[in-house]
Order: sequence, then C-alpha cells, then structure tokens
Amino acid sequence: MSYLPIQQLLQATPGTDVTVKGWVRTKRESKNAVFIAINDGSTINTIQAVAEAGQLPDDLLRQITTGACVAITGQLVESIGSGQNVEVKINDVTVYGPADPDKYPLQPKRHSLEFLREIAHLRPRTNTFSAILRVRHALAFAVHKYFNDNGFYYLNTPIITASDAEGAGEMFRVTTLDPLNPPRTDDGKVDYSEDFFGRETNLTVSGQLEGELGALALGKIYTFGPTFRAENSNTTRHLAEFWMIEPEMAFHELEDNMNLAEDFVRSVIRYALDHCADDLAFLDNRLKEEEKTKKKEEQSELSLIEKLRFVVDNQFERLTYTEAVDILINSKPAKKGQFQYEVTWGIDLQSEHERYLVERHFKKPVILTNYPRAIKAFYMKQDNAPATNSRGEVFGPTVRAMDVLFPGIGEIIGGSQREDDFDKLVARMNEVGIEPEALWWYLDTRRFGSAPHAGFGLGFERLVQFVTGMGNIRDVIPFPRAPKSAEF
Ligand code: ATP
Ligand code: MG
Ligand code: MG
Ligand code: MG
Repeated sequence: MSYLPIQQLLQATPGTDVTVKGWVRTKRESKNAVFIAINDGSTINTIQAVAEAGQLPDDLLRQITTGACVAITGQLVESIGSGQNVEVKINDVTVYGPADPDKYPLQPKRHSLEFLREIAHLRPRTNTFSAILRVRHALAFAVHKYFNDNGFYYLNTPIITASDAEGAGEMFRVTTLDPLNPPRTDDGKVDYSEDFFGRETNLTVSGQLEGELGALALGKIYTFGPTFRAENSNTTRHLAEFWMIEPEMAFHELEDNMNLAEDFVRSVIRYALDHCADDLAFLDNRLKEEEKTKKKEEQSELSLIEKLRFVVDNQFERLTYTEAVDILINSKPAKKGQFQYEVTWGIDLQSEHERYLVERHFKKPVILTNYPRAIKAFYMKQDNAPATNSRGEVFGPTVRAMDVLFPGIGEIIGGSQREDDFDKLVARMNEVGIEPEALWWYLDTRRFGSAPHAGFGLGFERLVQFVTGMGNIRDVIPFPRAPKSAEF
C-alpha cells in the first residue's frame, strides 16, 4: 500500500489502494455517508475521504474531529462532488492523536491573525500559515537558485561577531560574563579579558563587512542567514530576528548593483508565481475577502497575483534621493501637513514617505540613489560632487547608496557601492567615531588589491510579506521575535 503526500495523491490515477496521513480539517455527516477532509501540509488542498453511514464504529467516529491526526486506508476513486478529481473510499481509519474539540483552539473557520499570533505554535496547521510557509520555502529555494545560476558563491558569515557593521547600536550582546555583575577594570569598564572571546561581542546585524572580504577574493558571493537587531520599534516591518540576503560583487558599481537587485527580485517573484500557484491563489482570495471589509476608496485596485505579475513585468523607477525629496516636498500630503515627519533634504526617509513615492506617485517599485552621506553607513562610496536639485540649490555630500522601495512595505533593500579608497574610508571612519584599528582586517582589503565593489541587503521577510500580501511581518516567519514576545 503506497503512502503518498496529498499533493501527489490528488494527481494519482483512480483505482489504487492508498493510505492518507494527515490532520482532519472537517467532518461532515449526511444520512448516507461521512465525509472527512484531510490536509497533511504538502499542499493547500485537502483530500476527501468517504465512509458509508454506519461503517465506522461510533467511538472511532467521535474521535475524528477537527485537528485530530489520522491514517486512512482505502481506495482512490473518481470524485463527483468534492471539487477534486479523486477522493478516498475508506476501508479503515486509525486515529494517531485525537484533538479534544472543547480544547483545540483551531476550528474550521477563519481566525483573526491577531488570535493566531497568540498561538503561533499551532498556526502552521491553518491554511493561511501553511500557505505562507510553503511560499517562504519556495522563495528561499529561488534565492539560492538565482545566485547559483548566476555564478555567486554562498558564503557563511559569522553569527557571533565583534563588528557592528551598521553602527546603529541595535546589537544583542553575547557574553560568558555575568551580565549583571561583570568583572571591571580599575577605571570601571567591563573587563573582557575573562570573556570567552576576550572582547565585546554581539549577534550579527549584517554580514556585509565579512561579505566584502569574500567578494574581494571569490568575485561574487552572497550570504543568506539570520540577522539580529534589538529594534525598539513596534512596527509591521521590523523583527528582532530576521533573515537577510546579502550579495556582494567585485567589479560592480552602483548601476550594476541596481540592475542586479532588480533582476534578482523580479526573478524570485517569478519563481513563486510559477511554483506556488495554488498557495498564491488561496492567499489572493483571502486578501480579496479582507478587501471587501474596507471602504471602497481604500480597496486595492489590483489583486495580489496582479501585483506580483506587475512587478515581474515592469521596470522599477529609478531616481536620486534629492529628486525624491523634491517630489515629496511638492506633494499634496506635504502641503496639507499630512506627513508625520516633515520632509527636508537630509532626513532619513520614513516609511510614510517611501510608501507615498511607491504607492501614490510612481505606482511601481522605486530605487532611490545617492543619499546624504550623513544618514548612511561609513562604508558607502562617496560621490565626487554634492547634490544639487533642479533649481540649482546645492546640498551636502552624498554616497552611492540605493534603497529599493516596495508597495505596502517601503524599504525592502538597502545597498551601495562600497568605498574602495583606503584614505577616504579611514577619514570617514574617524569622522563617525569608528576606530580604524578595530576594523584592521576590513581595511586590509583596501590596503592590498582594493577593487570597486558593491552589494546590498534584502530582508527576506519583507520579500515574503510582499509576495504573500501579509500586512504584518510577524505573520511571515514561523517563530516571530519581537519586543516582549519569545514563547519558544
Ligand atoms: P529600516 O529603515 O526599515 O529600519 P534599515 O535601513 O535599518 O531598514 P538596512 O540596514 O539597510 O535596514 O538592512 C537591509 C535590509 O534588511 C532592509 O532593507 C530590510 O529589508 C531588512 N531589515 C532591516 N531591519 C530589519 C528588521 N528589523 N526586521 C526585518 N527586516 C529588516
Ligand atoms: Mg533600521
Ligand atoms: Mg532604512
Ligand atoms: Mg537601509
């Protein structure tokens, strides 16, 4: 007797003896028959199993409830009524694990995402979350496939590290000292000589600096690993633990970096469209239902799948930060005072500004470049001339940075061409208060055989958010870590 996942069973030829193993979604009893819908997580679809009325003993039938885990043997037969080609004519049912209907929290109805967040340990058993997790898997696979197909090497950068690439002070400390009562030197500073690594260490906030070492040896590399930031903000696009994809390429300048970022994102989304049709159709429907509850003017014009197709088929808009600031200053929301943060040249754009540009002005993904040097990390390549706008106003110095902005999310990618000039890099480190000695290994790549290079970081969950249409980043990772939430 063959045991096949339901995904394959639904494609199999009627007439064979089969075993189905999975969790009961629904049980329906009519005068003549009992219908059991089973899902095993291999697909969004359920398979229907049918027994004649009276065929199954009462005490067994009572245990077949939503959430129970069962093995059903029977014959695969053509189905007329189930919406599928095939169903299982039941011979025998074994209940592996019952689920007391009075206590099992998941019932065959649509639960709110907020409720499901409270039972994150069980939510992969729902249609919505199993669909999201399968799409997440497909996207992760597509990421590796894209880079492999394009000559990149997968480089694993350290999780525990002494460097703070972003300098944003959002690090989780790693220490073997007593955190509450660490040994101290005479001048009161923590004495790290007794710590495991002999110095202050933390969980990585980005693998980029180490990634650059790889690129300046292997040519093209990418990292794809867990990343940690002690974000104190409670937003729908920040997690304390997320997965970042960071390609880094020698002999690439800003323009090449943009081309790669765009081609990469469009390719992996295309992969999801091609390989997750059932799951995306389900998520699309789910969103359509959600849209119906909104006011007419707030309803989205495009469905989820139409949005994904649009991104795959259309070029992203490209403009400089300075041009974007001009657009924002002259925008309706700015004039009506509707932005929470006022826009002036030099500010770090907020999600409200990013989303205005993408969703209302250009109505497509946008790549912004050449940001003010003061708001970007020290390693970005400095532009030769300061920014000027169309009216000839001159602003401060800029760097060859690029942010890719997406509808519904805002920043999805941050990247840049890197400063490859040793003297400029050291001068910039001194200006922002980073000791060059602490990053001597990084500076060695500029000291010896420096090369133009560029790269970017894509937050994997933000990509999954876009592809699944989920509004909150906590709903696209199996075990979300955010302030005050770590049940696992
Ligand atoms: P944001 O402005 O949204 O805080 P950032 O500019 O701090 O992002 P970068 O340092 O540029 O982020 O990191 C590169 C990418 O990593 C971002 O474009 C985003 O996709 C992702 N990312 C950054 N912080 C988080 C987070 N806390 N949770 C999930 N993804 C994140
Ligand atoms: Mg941030
Ligand atoms: Mg940012
Ligand atoms: Mg950024």
